Amino acid sequence: MIKNPFQNAQEQLNKVSFFLEIKKELFNIIREPQRVLEVNIPVKMDNGEIKIFKGYRSQHNCALGPFKGGIRFHPNVTKEEVMALSMWMTWKCAVAGIPFGGGKGGIIVNPKELSLGELERLSRGYVRAIVPIIGPETDIPAPDVNTNSQVMAWMLDEYIKNQKSKIKNQKSKIKYQISKFENQDDEEKLKAAFTGKPLDLGGSLGRTEATGRGGVYCLNELIKHLNISKNDLTIAVQGMGNVGYYFAQLAYEQGYRLVALSDSKGAIVVEDEKMGQLNPKEVMEYKERTGSVVGFPGTKNISNEELLELNVEILVPAALENVITEINAGKVKAFIIIEMANGPVTPEADEILNKNGIIVVPDILANSGGVIVSYFEWEQNMKGEKWEESIVNERLKARMINAFGNLWKTKEEKKVNFREAAYIFAVDKVVKAMLNSKL
Ligand code: GLU
Repeated sequence: MIKNPFQNAQEQLNKVSFFLEIKKELFNIIREPQRVLEVNIPVKMDNGEIKIFKGYRSQHNCALGPFKGGIRFHPNVTKEEVMALSMWMTWKCAVAGIPFGGGKGGIIVNPKELSLGELERLSRGYVRAIVPIIGPETDIPAPDVNTNSQVMAWMLDEYIKNQKSKIKNQKSKIKYQISKFENQDDEEKLKAAFTGKPLDLGGSLGRTEATGRGGVYCLNELIKHLNISKNDLTIAVQGMGNVGYYFAQLAYEQGYRLVALSDSKGAIVVEDEKMGQLNPKEVMEYKERTGSVVGFPGTKNISNEELLELNVEILVPAALENVITEINAGKVKAFIIIEMANGPVTPEADEILNKNGIIVVPDILANSGGVIVSYFEWEQNMKGEKWEESIVNERLKARMINAFGNLWKTKEEKKVNFREAAYIFAVDKVVKAMLNSKL
């Protein structure tokens, strides 16, 4: 039976509790989000009808800093999914060594069925609904599945409007706040309420590519630690969204042989298994022209499920959760899995993969590049700075190498697998921070 993502997240946590001496009361706190807000967002559709969309914002833990995490638009969003994703963000930020906690938001919607205007009204409506609990020092949203810098621009604009009108209303009552927000610098800081913004609204260079880039840095570290050469290692990537595409593109540029790619409509694998390879840029151009990667010249069409069972060395699920389960885990032939999606492997599948000696680089390390550069963006906004792209990438690389090294060390010392090492490292750090703060 496939469990919901929150049950999986709790099960992953249970598994490592054995290695950590955590008081029961503390453990009970981190098993649940601190707060989950459920909102109903009325949106005026283009035909004049008012439709109500359900959304959530889950704030799991803020012991290490403000809640941080993306907002996804997807028809399969559930409260439990958002809760799980917020918990994973807590561990991810701890592993990455950034001063944030974990949060996540989502709206139940198929954004592909909405016009641009409807999408904008939905994004703005969502912000109005969650505004009491977000802000640069409380909870900082970012893009996730089906959201991007344009969505962040609408959301930030709505947030700033809301803050300004709040201040205006309070003007006569609380004098000191006037000066606080009439200061230009403070208004700049409001931009830090969202990350993954367009560049001209305070976004950071390198943020769009950051998740994929971080994943490739992580893969390079793994290869180094395993003492193998990357020449002729074959890769299959599931997903051609922001994460999958940039991972594939960078891996290709660095000399890995990319043999399979997919999107929600299907997957492709090179016809020439011995020598063939895909150039992600060309595949993306084809996808933009035709609507899908399916049918790309020189490839065979396969299903997304078949892609996971291909005879490749490295498998990269970069789409959604729960794609490698107890049903197909035994059929995975790759010896390395890099989890670029959040939660793509279920706990039951994890056990099978472990038994088969497959190395799974967990999501909370592998895809942490996105939130790391979100932290850089936030820092630039708070300090009024603009960093060169080369500086962003250098600092991202240093953090990924450091995080990888910490987990590798924990893995060797405790004789556990990579995911367990990541959990042990992260949970220990969060619990220590909780003990140092007022509960
Ligand atoms: N949505 C991304 C993630 O799951 C990025 C979150 C962020 O930048 O806050 O890690």
